Amino acid sequence: MMDVPLHQAGAVLTVDLDAVAENYRILAGKAGTASCAAVVKADAYGLGAGRVARRLLAEGCRTFHVAHLAEAVELRAEIGDGPQICVLNGIPPGTAADFLAADAMPVVNSLGELAEWRAAAAKAGRALPAALQVDSGMSRLGMSAGEAASIAADPGLLAGIEVRMVMSHLACADEPGHPANLAQVDEFERLRRILPEAALSLANSSGAFLGKAFRHDLVRPGAALYGINPLPGRRNPMRQVVGLKARVIQLRDVPAGAGIGYGHALHADAPMRLATLSIGYADGWPRGTRAGAWCGDAPLPLAGRVSMDSVVVDATGLSDDMLWQGAFVDMIGDRQTVDDVAAASGTIGYEILCRLGRRFHRVHLGG
Ligand SMILES: *Cc1c(COP(=O)(O)O)cnc(C)c1O
Repeated sequence: MMDVPLHQAGAVLTVDLDAVAENYRILAGKAGTASCAAVVKADAYGLGAGRVARRLLAEGCRTFHVAHLAEAVELRAEIGDGPQICVLNGIPPGTAADFLAADAMPVVNSLGELAEWRAAAAKAGRALPAALQVDSGMSRLGMSAGEAASIAADPGLLAGIEVRMVMSHLACADEPGHPANLAQVDEFERLRRILPEAALSLANSSGAFLGKAFRHDLVRPGAALYGINPLPGRRNPMRQVVGLKARVIQLRDVPAGAGIGYGHALHADAPMRLATLSIGYADGWPRGTRAGAWCGDAPLPLAGRVSMDSVVVDATGLSDDMLWQGAFVDMIGDRQTVDDVAAASGTIGYEILCRLGRRFHRVHLGG
């Protein structure tokens, strides 16, 4: 990650690690008697996996999930020995030695991967831990019911493997009334009963709010840790974690009729004051967004199209002492949350967060 000094930066991303920790406590409370893991894949949804994980270690978190082996290798170097690191996307061929070197636990998603891990255990001459993922109805990752049945019929398939966890993933957890949720619980329960006894894990962030039937032994929240609302359409129980400020790099007054930005997507219908901000789609600010910015409590509506490195906003009516070249305005903050930006961009908060770019000055608060 490029670390851009503040005086050079076009935008500043602030990550409040104390808010992440508070969100972890909220989720751990929701988990009841189950443990609470932390999903820190994709560099903790763009916020810095090492820093987030170290902060959550201090909260008692002992299991971290990443998607890729390379993320596990990096995370192990950041957090040291001890805590469990699970690799959700399974075992790419020929990588078993790398898993062992990083003490990373694969999530085994197929009989082929199981064979790979069995061979690694035979070679290592000791039992190797694994999580088994079953597909309980999302049709994305994990062993089919047929593969689970093969394991039940031939325990030799697990030779040398210590099954620490049996897991699955919910497709519709953010829709509490969706019938797929309980159907997945039922299928998960059915499959886990034919597999070796192990810790069970089904719920992601939204799943942790679906009630006791979904919590099992371990919940695996990601998004909610980072302030994304796990209850779409209802009040967000999580604390905001992210702030994003962009620098004003130019102010101009234009007459009525001026064309603004690429394609002249907007024409001024009256004299306007415009502010050009140093953030664009190369920084992950979506080109298709309708979100503008905020100067304190004053909205700065988007004017025209988002460019690669800049965006123009309507600052009409804001005086020189409110906005000046070099000032910072809020892109994500109290007045415009990650979920608000997502809603104004036709996507979800997850995508906004994990695309936030590499050219920011980054500040981690707390921790
Ligand atoms: C990403 C992921 C999670 C975390 O999901 P959130 O919705 O961000 O809480 C949990 N489990 C699996 C298998 C995942 O891929």
